[in-house]
Amino acid sequence: MALVNRILIIGGGIGGMCAAIMLRRQGIDVDLVELNPQWAPDGAGITISGPTLRGLREVGVIDEVLKRGGSWRAVDICDANGKVNATVPIAPAVGADDLPGCAGIMRSVFADILANATRNTGANVRLGLSFETINQDDDGVDVLFTNGSRQRYDLVIGADGVNSAVRKLVMPDFAGPKFTGQGSWRAVVPRLRENSTIYMGSTTKAGMNPISATESYLFVLDKRDGLEFIEQERWPQVLAELLAEFGGAIGEFREGLLDASLKNHRLLYRPLMGHMIGAPWHKGRIVLLGDAVHATTPHLASGAGIAVEGAIVLAEELARRHSIEGALTAYAGRHYDRARLVVSASGRMGEIEQTGGSLEEHTRVMIHAQQALRAPI
Ligand SMILES: Cc1cc2nc3c(=O)[nH]c(=O)nc-3n(C[C@H](O)[C@H](O)[C@H](O)COP(=O)(O)OP(=O)(O)OC[C@H]3O[C@@H](n4cnc5c(N)ncnc54)[C@H](O)[C@@H]3O)c2cc1C
Repeated sequence: MALVNRILIIGGGIGGMCAAIMLRRQGIDVDLVELNPQWAPDGAGITISGPTLRGLREVGVIDEVLKRGGSWRAVDICDANGKVNATVPIAPAVGADDLPGCAGIMRSVFADILANATRNTGANVRLGLSFETINQDDDGVDVLFTNGSRQRYDLVIGADGVNSAVRKLVMPDFAGPKFTGQGSWRAVVPRLRENSTIYMGSTTKAGMNPISATESYLFVLDKRDGLEFIEQERWPQVLAELLAEFGGAIGEFREGLLDASLKNHRLLYRPLMGHMIGAPWHKGRIVLLGDAVHATTPHLASGAGIAVEGAIVLAEELARRHSIEGALTAYAGRHYDRARLVVSASGRMGEIEQTGGSLEEHTRVMIHAQQALRAPI
């Protein structure tokens, strides 16, 4: 007999959609509610690491991701003027030799691919909806939705992101995510190279990762003293100042940024928040997934990856265990270590960048984490 027959997923982001797809494959009835009526995330690029690509192959969307995104097998390390000093190959994840080492895609395109795949499984998706109350007993969970409807489930998955509301029910004492001291800038630029490119300035590191055959996204992190709000009108100016030391392709991009006629770079600034919450990640029949329990900075480009892997592991454990408690304990037990590695290594890399620490340590932390993540989940 199946452990669960009916599941509610709260949050239709990367983790929630992957969980819906994997659970529908087991024949489980899945309702998914997403607060955003458009179901469309902010329009920046996202990097999909090799292990994440392997996870997306499991979820069944890899062909579409590679078709609509951009991929590469090496990183060109350049000076601030774009002169290539080294080219570092990126090995694919173990068991994924047929896949590229890394890929990139616009978030909205990625969300569209996952949303289509989710709907195609027959999951019942309801947009512009959330929960009002959740009450559980030994046999099930009663949910009152924000539109006044009610439903009873065998399990509720909180995949509602870094500021998760479901988390309050599972971990009422958790104080909330912390600002990590850095902000992330992203912009869409023409694709200039086959490879991913990192530009090493003396105080700032910038990069460009392909997101399609013709476009890349530019990414740069800056150090911020506090969680300050930067008005959108100031973004071009602030980013241009941050990129002041760069010449070459980044220099040209910077000039264009300040030109009022060129507003089409789809700029995005986000202060970086993070946390790694210890297990258990569930209380009774309510369990958390993705950023709700492990939100990372983007230094290893693996936040989405651990949300995808978490969804796969959760679905697998629900399929093979004999009690909900056993399945949810096994899910966290199996997934915690990889998630913690991503959050702690990314956090350490951010600290080194903020304090002007050792470049050798930065590289060592990154390579160690990347190698560990290549291993099967
Ligand atoms: C600036 C930045 C850059 C990043 N770059 C990368 C990268 O290059 N590569 C990478 O792998 N990772 C990256 N990440 C991390 C990655 O985006 C996250 O780890 C990933 O999106 C987590 O997926 P999730 O499903 O847990 O949460 P989310 O993707 O945040 O999804 C949560 C969903 O829940 C919905 N929701 C929220 N509250 C409710 C509610 N009460 N009811 C219903 N729905 C709700 C939201 O609308 C959203 O759709 C980056 C993160 C940041 C901040």
